[in-house]
Amino acid sequence: MREFYDPYLNVVDVMTEAMEIGGMNQYMFDIIKNPQRETKVYLPVEMDDGTVQVFEGYRVQHSNIRGPFKGGIRFHQDCNLNEVKALATWMSLKCAVVNIPYGGAKGGVRVDPNNLSQRELRKLTRRYAFAIEPLIGADTDIPAPDVNTNSQTMAWILDTYSMLKGKPCPGVVTGKPLELGGSKGRNSATGRGVAISTKLILERDGKKLEDVTVAISGMGNVGGNAARILGHRGSKIVALSDVSGGIYCENGLDADEISEFLEIKGKQLKDYQKEGVSHISHEEVLTCKCDVLIPAALENQINAENAEKLQCSYIIEGANGPTSVEADALLEERGIILVPDIFANSGGVIVSYFEWVQNIQILTWNRDQVNKTLEKIMSAAFIEILEESQQSQCSLRMAAYIIALKRLIYAEEIKGIFP
Ligand code: GLU
Repeated sequence: MREFYDPYLNVVDVMTEAMEIGGMNQYMFDIIKNPQRETKVYLPVEMDDGTVQVFEGYRVQHSNIRGPFKGGIRFHQDCNLNEVKALATWMSLKCAVVNIPYGGAKGGVRVDPNNLSQRELRKLTRRYAFAIEPLIGADTDIPAPDVNTNSQTMAWILDTYSMLKGKPCPGVVTGKPLELGGSKGRNSATGRGVAISTKLILERDGKKLEDVTVAISGMGNVGGNAARILGHRGSKIVALSDVSGGIYCENGLDADEISEFLEIKGKQLKDYQKEGVSHISHEEVLTCKCDVLIPAALENQINAENAEKLQCSYIIEGANGPTSVEADALLEERGIILVPDIFANSGGVIVSYFEWVQNIQILTWNRDQVNKTLEKIMSAAFIEILEESQQSQCSLRMAAYIIALKRLIYAEEIKGIFP
């Protein structure tokens, strides 16, 4: 066991095991495990009080063998180059496992956006967009929202980029507002994909969404939408958490009402009061009695310390990298079934792909078309993962990694090594 958690080493460990089980060519792994390019930028911003603060930003472009680099941008006080490197690697694997024509990338800025005014946030975002402008573009590298960024962030990046190019460039980002060329269904797509994943794994075991209780840690875009959609489909949401702590109700929480409450400026779960709802810690949400646990916040939430205490039967990874390698082994031993992040949270990038296709073709899809096509792509990928896991007698995570790595390696092999 490593002394401390390192997201990049974690993804390399999982890839190493998948390479072995899948019997893949080792020298290819040296190419695939390293990103193609890592960029670090320094971003001076004049704050509202007249002082200047310099922020650090990153863009890691992991792979573009299967298509343009693709991946979100996160704003977080703990963000660093190594984390972004892991997140970029997961994007390459994610796009490969669901077989959409993208590579993988990720960006980030080390900042707590809650400490910035809207004006400061806009200036920081535009400065970051300016700094990475040489790297991005509709056919080279396409950013999207991630932790603490949203359609407004994308609108600022799109405008900064378009100003620099002297023409509107809607295809440079996805997850943008509808008015600027965004796609219907993109905002809720990652949460919808998590709900679809939950449905698919339950169906495999002869169960239904209506039969299960669900706990979700994280009430951002992914956790919030997953809670609402699962609630609409009849699952009982018993526990939820955000940065302020958790809430629990044995008879079920009203995810729509709670999401609306959290939209009020300054409101957090710790402020939510309702009869029958008790306040618990973030850790207690992870370990509470439920059928399905959805970690939907940051990395390493499920680790060697708490894996033994979990009381769920299924884990659906809404976040990227929420489970450490050590925890994975413990969960497998305990028979807890895990649907891995690179599949479970792929709904966001799949609908990003639809948005990009609509931008390139200058046409729009309706919401029904978006949601149906998302479900079709995810269902097809899930069947492949189940088949691989049977064939190789391995976990669903290993199976997903084997499929993704085989696709990446095959593309690398037929392309050959430059020069
Ligand atoms: N940030 C999301 C993810 O981690 C979406 C990325 C995208 O749409 O490009 O998958």
